[in-house]
Amino acid sequence: MSDAAPVPLSRSVDLQSVAAFARELVAALRQRPGVEALNVLRAGVHAHCPQCQFRLFGEDVLALAASQAPAPETSPKLHRLAQGYCARQGCESRFYEFTFDPVPGVDWETLLAALDAALGAQAEAAATEAAAPAATASAPGRTRLRVAVGLALIVVLLVVRHVLTGGAIPWIREPRRFTADPATMPKLGQTNTEPFRAPADTNRPRTFRAAPPSGPR
Ligand SMILES: [Zn+2]
Repeated sequence: MSDAAPVPLSRSVDLQSVAAFARELVAALRQRPGVEALNVLRAGVHAHCPQCQFRLFGEDVLALAASQAPAPETSPKLHRLAQGYCARQGCESRFYEFTFDPVPGVDWETLLAALDAALGAQAEAAATEAAAPAATASAPGRTRLRVAVGLALIVVLLVVRHVLTGGAIPWIREPRRFTADPATMPKLGQTNTEPFRAPADTNRPRTFRAAPPSGPR
């Protein structure tokens, strides 16, 4: 880094996760030895709503981090923020713009990078938790069951048809093989060299006999 004065860092924080952001920020500051979290927050952290310009100060961030579920009677501002809304009643902004002014002993860039990683892991865990129970009884699950039953029915019907039409079933029924009785077959070449006659026995039925079993294969 150069010797130039550090510039304030700023970032947009989704109001849906602003309470979690405040908690992680305070926790990260408290982990640093020799740093008083409230002093750092007072000196270096403030935020504002880009729509209504409502301003949030370090003390507010600490209070938001400290209270799990702020009651609307004691602090309507914190209550609305914890619910994911702008602190100003009626404002529909979805995020706040946070600014981190330089504070001696605090490396905002490193601290915010660690914060992002922690919040990302939290969001991922929450998404996995939300998705798991929904998958078991969902409509796609029932549809898959119906498709499986339908496919099984089709297979059974195909097997039944196969058996009825005399198909082979391995180890249960071998297909019968037939060969023509040589005595009833025309001699080789005979049919091509001799003029065609229509003998009386043209329609004589040929006899077939079952071929001997072909033995082990
Ligand atoms: Zn606002």
